[in-house]
Amino acid sequence: MDSTATFLESLRPAGSKRSSKRDFIVNVFLRQEGHITAETLVDLIRGEDQRISRATIYRTLQWMVDAGIARKVDFGEGRFRFEHSYRHPRHFHLICKTCNRSFEFLSSDIESLIEEVAVARNFAPRQSVLQIHGTCEACRTGRPPAPAEGGVTELLFARDALRVAIATERSGRDFYSRAARLTKDARGRKVFERLAEEEKEHLATLEARYAELLRQDPELESRPAFLFFKNAANGLFAAGAEQLSKGMNDREALMIGIKCERGSHRFFKRYGEKFEDSEGKQIFLEFADEERAHLELLIREYRGLVERQRRRGRKR
Ligand SMILES: [Zn+2]
Ligand SMILES: [Zn+2]
Repeated sequence: MDSTATFLESLRPAGSKRSSKRDFIVNVFLRQEGHITAETLVDLIRGEDQRISRATIYRTLQWMVDAGIARKVDFGEGRFRFEHSYRHPRHFHLICKTCNRSFEFLSSDIESLIEEVAVARNFAPRQSVLQIHGTCEACRTGRPPAPAEGGVTELLFARDALRVAIATERSGRDFYSRAARLTKDARGRKVFERLAEEEKEHLATLEARYAELLRQDPELESRPAFLFFKNAANGLFAAGAEQLSKGMNDREALMIGIKCERGSHRFFKRYGEKFEDSEGKQIFLEFADEERAHLELLIREYRGLVERQRRRGRKR
């Protein structure tokens, strides 16, 4: 049984009978990509099985929404559309008013802004909807539309999550190699070298995973960006390296490392936790764990260094 089937099975109350009609409707729905109207689903279902009534299909759609398999979206057309929500992260939409196609994206910056506003206004947000209405590239230029992207949202999410993690590892590796060169403390140098080495290993693992995704979809690299991260964690290490180059003592260098790792750990953990189960979520959470391990190592080293300096100071 694949994971979708297992998930559906888990929704069935214990002892209840399988409903073959419902399973059929759910499976047809899950085969569709993008955002479909109830009418489209009715046509699809009844095209295959005339015995299933419109009322049953509508009831099943509502059941899927309640069960977390489908999400209802309103693109201002006077009717709802439905999209998968199982293993499909929450996202924002670009909506073409000419061809009615919609495109999905995510932005950590928009999300943190929404959070900031809600906190400032003492508001408990339940759902935020962001839609950009306009004309898509295909409709504007007459060029044929890009291959359907709805179906690969999960793949795009994983791709972009990996890209952010890889960029962060790269800047982390550069940061630690530079710190190892600059430090005067032999022990500190070992720590930085070890971290640079670890970042290199993680980098290789992440790159292998990226190559694996590309095998699943050879066109993946050319598909549009899904995740937008302006202030992503990888900027932290770059800023840290910049600070290092201005010259500083070993304690300060460790402190910058701690700040970078902590920021990175928090970012990936907080962001990863928000998503429905998916490969992108997995990537973020695993990466957050690695960053925490680095953070703990740096904190131990920092304490050790402070202790050594204190003892040396007493001897003098
Ligand atoms: Zn269009
Ligand atoms: Zn959508």
